[in-house]
Amino acid sequence: MKKLTSFLSIFSFLFLLLASVVNAQLNFYFVNVGMGNATYIELPNGQNALIDGGPSVKPIEAFLKSKNITHLDHVVLTHPHSDHYMGLKKVFKIATVSNFYDSKAENLSAKGDNNLRALAEAQGSVTHYPKIGEQLNWDPTVNIKVLNTCETDTPSKNNGEINNCSIVLKFTYAGQKVLLTADMEEPGERRVLSRFPASELQADVIQAGHHGSKTASSQPFLNAVRPRIAILSYGTDNKYGFPHYEVVSKLQAMNVLMYATNEQTQTLFLKPVSKSVRAAENAPQIQVKAYDANMPVFTDASYFAEEATAESANVSVEDAETVEVEMPSLTEVKKSMHGEKSRKSLEKLQHFSF
Ligand SMILES: [Zn+2]
Repeated sequence: MKKLTSFLSIFSFLFLLLASVVNAQLNFYFVNVGMGNATYIELPNGQNALIDGGPSVKPIEAFLKSKNITHLDHVVLTHPHSDHYMGLKKVFKIATVSNFYDSKAENLSAKGDNNLRALAEAQGSVTHYPKIGEQLNWDPTVNIKVLNTCETDTPSKNNGEINNCSIVLKFTYAGQKVLLTADMEEPGERRVLSRFPASELQADVIQAGHHGSKTASSQPFLNAVRPRIAILSYGTDNKYGFPHYEVVSKLQAMNVLMYATNEQTQTLFLKPVSKSVRAAENAPQIQVKAYDANMPVFTDASYFAEEATAESANVSVEDAETVEVEMPSLTEVKKSMHGEKSRKSLEKLQHFSF
């Protein structure tokens, strides 16, 4: 009996150890919020973040509920346009928020963003105005660098000017890089190119600027970033015709895999994996996985645990040679892009098969 007890305690210790290591990953959820942006992030240290909240209350509320989220460590408003802040207004009512990150852009055409800022203050969130080049200390294993924002007061009615104030963040974790450009357009891209060497802009995954608008994703910027994967965040049949044909064409010419949020939330899970384990398992670089609100994240981690060897369970971020990237299928996206304005983009996307 004593033997069994000690066996069980060792087993549960190992299980907990494995679970804690397995959970040490960086997860991005590019939430399907319609015509807008909302990106939920789970950090390896257990903290979380939400970047923008989408254009309306229901989608982001449903997403947070599906994951039982009532607290957010970090909330970022990339820039004060309604397709990014309207959902956040609800977020500040249904969740506690420790830190709020804002640009100094002020949208003179909208009162809503000031309202949001007041909500953050009323809740006692600490408001930060990050500077370009600053690193956000959200997790010691993740490097998060601010590549763009408006550091000085920028009141404006000009949509382009406000878009170019977008807080742009680059995440680096276990050698993999993810670049979230929000609605930054070409002038902002030029500013970033002039401030940072191309080596600092390179990213494996990019959230294409301004919902795939042709006013963003300029060729020089894409050449510096050299992404493998692009996330396109937009709503089906939107009046702007996002994503624009020109952007989809450019990304296709660069052999970039494209994933859109218009019909489903897209997930990107970065997990440290040792080179030896990868070679042994001959694991693919990209695994297909769709987000299912009924399936807790730990199910994914368990899946990984089953697949992994004991060796891989001991991999820390520091000695990982690469990370595993999981992405969902694009199949649904093809069907949904039937708007006349998106017709040409659809023709391009149809060339993709998984
Ligand atoms: Zn937008």
